[in-house]
Amino acid sequence: MELTRCCIHSITNKPWKLEQAVDKYAEAGIGGISVWQSSLEGIGAKNAAGHIKASGLEVVSYVRGGFFAHPGGEERKKAIDNNKRQLEEAAELGAPLIVLVCGASPAQSLEVSRQQIRDGIEALLPMAEELNIKLAIEPLHPMYAADRSAVNTLGQANDMAEAIGSGFVGVAVDVYHLWWDGDLQKEILRCGKNGHLLAYHVCDWKANTLDMLNDRGLMGEGCIDLKKIRSWVEAAGFHGFHEVEIFSDIYWQMDQDEYLKKITTAFREKC
Ligand code: ZN
Repeated sequence: MELTRCCIHSITNKPWKLEQAVDKYAEAGIGGISVWQSSLEGIGAKNAAGHIKASGLEVVSYVRGGFFAHPGGEERKKAIDNNKRQLEEAAELGAPLIVLVCGASPAQSLEVSRQQIRDGIEALLPMAEELNIKLAIEPLHPMYAADRSAVNTLGQANDMAEAIGSGFVGVAVDVYHLWWDGDLQKEILRCGKNGHLLAYHVCDWKANTLDMLNDRGLMGEGCIDLKKIRSWVEAAGFHGFHEVEIFSDIYWQMDQDEYLKKITTAFREKC
């Protein structure tokens, strides 16, 4: 796929400061960037927005809000306050979308967590509408169900987005989390039809994964059929950015210029 349709999540090149990543991406002909909150340290949302705008890159999303599920009411309230601050930052950044890692707690059932997630998203809706920022529920692989997300399939995310029923709430499809699901094609078409397919994230799944969080593969390095999933996403009417999102202790240790070359080659050939 052509690089103008490529967006990279700033965490992918974690060793680079945000300004540096922005300059390198623009120089490489990449079209967009999704900005992680941790990347704003030392620069702030306003300055980052100016730098990105000057580079010609598009801000695709702000990552990540969520973590709504907690047994204690006080913690749930704190989570909503955090998300409201993130909405303000997203507005300063000029991001049209916040990706939600919804949260889970091993101290309560997944059903209870899912209800708290829905309540949390609904509490943010008036502010999201006012700022014109959409919220994308990102289902996470079931290996994270204990403590990172009680939303683990695209079917669950679609159910929730449809139950909320707002033009400001949809879903993010990340191949790392969803590639194994036998219902994936059906569920991608479902969210496409509803206008709920807001983001598409790519990387690869390594059969010999060494770390549950920080050992994602570069596209083409694992077992995900990216071209097949791309055909489903396009059939669902999605023509936005394909976002490269790779957390990798291995790649973070590499020379980041060399790594960016690997990313752009893989994107052109494998996505
Ligand atoms: Zn993702």
